[in-house]
Amino acid sequence: MRFGINTIDEFDVAGKTVLCRVDMNQPVDRATDTLKSTQRIEACAPTLKELSDKGAKVVVLAHQGSDIEYQNFYCTRPHAKVLSTLLGKEVKWVEDVCGPTAREAIRNMKDGDVILLDNVRFCSEEQTLFELKLKLSHEEQAKTQVVTKLAPLADLYVCDAFAAAHRDQPTLCGFEQVLPSAMGRLFEKEYCVISELMEDPAKPCVFVLGGSKISDAFIMMETVLKSGSADLVLTGGLAGNILLHAMGRPIGQKSIDFIYAKNYEEYIEKARVLYEAYPDRIVLPVDLGGVEDGKRVEYTPDNVPEDFSAIDIGSETIRMYCDHIAKAKTVFVNGPMGVFEDTLSEDGTKKIFEALGETGAYTVVGGGDSVTAAKKYKVTDKLGYVCTGGGALIRFLTGEELPVVKALRHAAR
Ligand code: ADP
Ligand code: MG
Repeated sequence: MRFGINTIDEFDVAGKTVLCRVDMNQPVDRATDTLKSTQRIEACAPTLKELSDKGAKVVVLAHQGSDIEYQNFYCTRPHAKVLSTLLGKEVKWVEDVCGPTAREAIRNMKDGDVILLDNVRFCSEEQTLFELKLKLSHEEQAKTQVVTKLAPLADLYVCDAFAAAHRDQPTLCGFEQVLPSAMGRLFEKEYCVISELMEDPAKPCVFVLGGSKISDAFIMMETVLKSGSADLVLTGGLAGNILLHAMGRPIGQKSIDFIYAKNYEEYIEKARVLYEAYPDRIVLPVDLGGVEDGKRVEYTPDNVPEDFSAIDIGSETIRMYCDHIAKAKTVFVNGPMGVFEDTLSEDGTKKIFEALGETGAYTVVGGGDSVTAAKKYKVTDKLGYVCTGGGALIRFLTGEELPVVKALRHAAR
């Protein structure tokens, strides 16, 4: 038991049928029916292997999103192929979630077998739109099709989908109402790392917040400054621009237009209040990078041209941030410092990630684009921890109890 949740150690799984919900949601290349990244599958494979090695019949449940949200969900066939390679044994793919075919396949399993059911989001009850519109309680989720059809065939439910722990959906929160339940090894590890980061980080602890998901960035900034877990928050990306603008420093008209075009004007006032509450702990960029006539240019706020578009932090800011990172004991990064997808505006992000690779601090990176940046600059192996779940991580850092954590705690009681 950890954090009031059962671990796999609490159960003897040999000969038992275990429903294991994982998060293997990855970008798909439809033309070749393959996955563009297998990071999340690699991350949850150890739990599946452990259960199988201990003689459980492992029924894997997973979702796969798509480029167009709420439409055209993709099947989990490519995931089964990758999983077979990782586990070194055939993982049978079942083209069904909870209908007769799926149930028949589960009944025919032998000890140690692993099967992967099709995309759980083919069930409408499992879709995010359904979740947000209907807000089913966990008891109600236990009465949905997928739970009532599959739970009677299983002895144990294991959730290893930390990346989806902020979702309130039947395959994540419903089974805990009717089956003994535990968290998987990846869930345990991710939960442990971020709990420590929030409760007792080695000091000084520096948060580097950038990117363009402004609501998340500001909630997180406020939480970690208030709780004291962050000694310093180094800002960049769109978040940095909004703070600079809020404090009356010039960032260029194009940057301001972008803030309004994104409907982020409400954050300007929030940014001002936040900065005035913590002027010594929120660090603003001292110079900015952009592109003019196909070349990189940099300006300090007092000489920014009228119609400038700030899409990166400048060299002096980079130097200052890298210095803070080098001296820190804990560094958490969410959101790139600039539009790193373009070589002319990647400097900030590139050098910050390189500094992460070199610092002696414990480093944690979360968020989809930040993880991509870590890969791009080849520092993933040098990081203390790369969180597979952006949304879950951020909600945890804002102090909310995650729905799946709540459900797993309920099961443990
Ligand atoms: P993460 O996925 O790591 O949580 P976000 O999704 O919040 O990060 O932000 C990533 C995106 O932010 C990137 O696509 C990047 O191009 C963009 N970005 C970074 N800085 C700026 C900026 N100054 N202006 C506009 N977009 C930016
Ligand atoms: Mg992102």
